[in-house]
Amino acid sequence: MLRRKLPANIKSATKALHVDHAIEDGAAVSPPIHQSVTYRTDSPEDFSQKAQEPFNDVFYARHGTPTSSRIAKILADLEGAEEAMMFASGMGAITTTILALVQQGDHVIAQKSLYSASASFLTKFLPRFGVDITLVDQQSIEEFEKAIISKTKIILVETPVNPLMRLTDLRSVSKLAKIHNIITICDNTFATPINQTPIKLGIDLVVHSASKYIGGHHDLLAGCVVGSTELLRRIWDTSMDLGPTAAPFNSWLALRGIRTLKLRVMEHNANALKVASYLEQHPKIGDVFYPGLTSHPQFKLANQQMSGFGGMLSFDIPGGYQAGSKFLKALNICLNAASLGGVDTLVVQPAVMFRARLTDQEITELNITPGMIRMSVGIEDLCDILNDIEIALSKI
Ligand SMILES: *Cc1c(COP(=O)(O)O)cnc(C)c1O
Repeated sequence: MLRRKLPANIKSATKALHVDHAIEDGAAVSPPIHQSVTYRTDSPEDFSQKAQEPFNDVFYARHGTPTSSRIAKILADLEGAEEAMMFASGMGAITTTILALVQQGDHVIAQKSLYSASASFLTKFLPRFGVDITLVDQQSIEEFEKAIISKTKIILVETPVNPLMRLTDLRSVSKLAKIHNIITICDNTFATPINQTPIKLGIDLVVHSASKYIGGHHDLLAGCVVGSTELLRRIWDTSMDLGPTAAPFNSWLALRGIRTLKLRVMEHNANALKVASYLEQHPKIGDVFYPGLTSHPQFKLANQQMSGFGGMLSFDIPGGYQAGSKFLKALNICLNAASLGGVDTLVVQPAVMFRARLTDQEITELNITPGMIRMSVGIEDLCDILNDIEIALSKI
């Protein structure tokens, strides 16, 4: 089969369609799903070599599969890194990455506002194994600096992040970490590599929940980590013991989803900016939190490190918990459902969502007001989203 030669300077939208075809010589335009869990070897010597070789995707499926390698190749390329690895979920990627890099006695710094399961893993799980955690205000580089001790191994950041869509200055954090030989990890789920590429700003590792924008259609659970071959080898070793490997079909769905990532993200960006601007001038709405609004306290930073502002926003309905619930119940296009980053607009009331994991006091400390609504703006026609919101607001 004739191999194609891709030009060196192709852009994101083209990469997502073509770079994985370099992996395999198959002529199929839509890639096959490699469902086989095991692969025949040529000899005991070949068996032994494949069993030990990192990232070998044609030995046993816990080690990787050709389908996962294809989506990983695209993610590495889009993020501007050497290597990527797929996982069964975003949390599988985050926990395996951190567990691969710390040992008893080590210290991890993270921002106070984090995806709730990441926060719970850091503050409730890791301390059981002798790893200490310090949480800091993501907006203060001084707090990051003050938190560093000789045992600090990792700084974990996430930007933009729930619930106020606050940002972390990726250039400053990575610069600080490099001075102290600390590994930086950025959860880039909300931004996607279309809007933000942390590795190009000096961050060591990027993690994603591929269940969100990368898959994009609310039909798969997967995660990934992207970074240098050296760090990914350590993470791969740990994943051999823990087993959070991505299933071939879910990797295939992520591959199917990422083909249209650019197109979808551009539409999410455009719709969200218009929804945020509409909400900001609405008399029944209090604060609106979106990095693309000039009223966002970090609008300047958003412009420095993001090329688009994403599809996630939140806003406060002054009537409190009751008004927020009433609003959600009156919506007909926007769906009240967990998760984010897909083609359908999803809304949640963070005060309700976070109650599963946090106390009322912890919820207040995260600046979550009872009437706050978080919206993952989808790709429906903008008029229909705005109409749905307008009608629902008229009922409160
Ligand atoms: C959803 C999410 C995760 C966890 O991913 P799963 O695929 O649900 O395990 C981690 N970080 C962020 C920012 C998320 O939105």
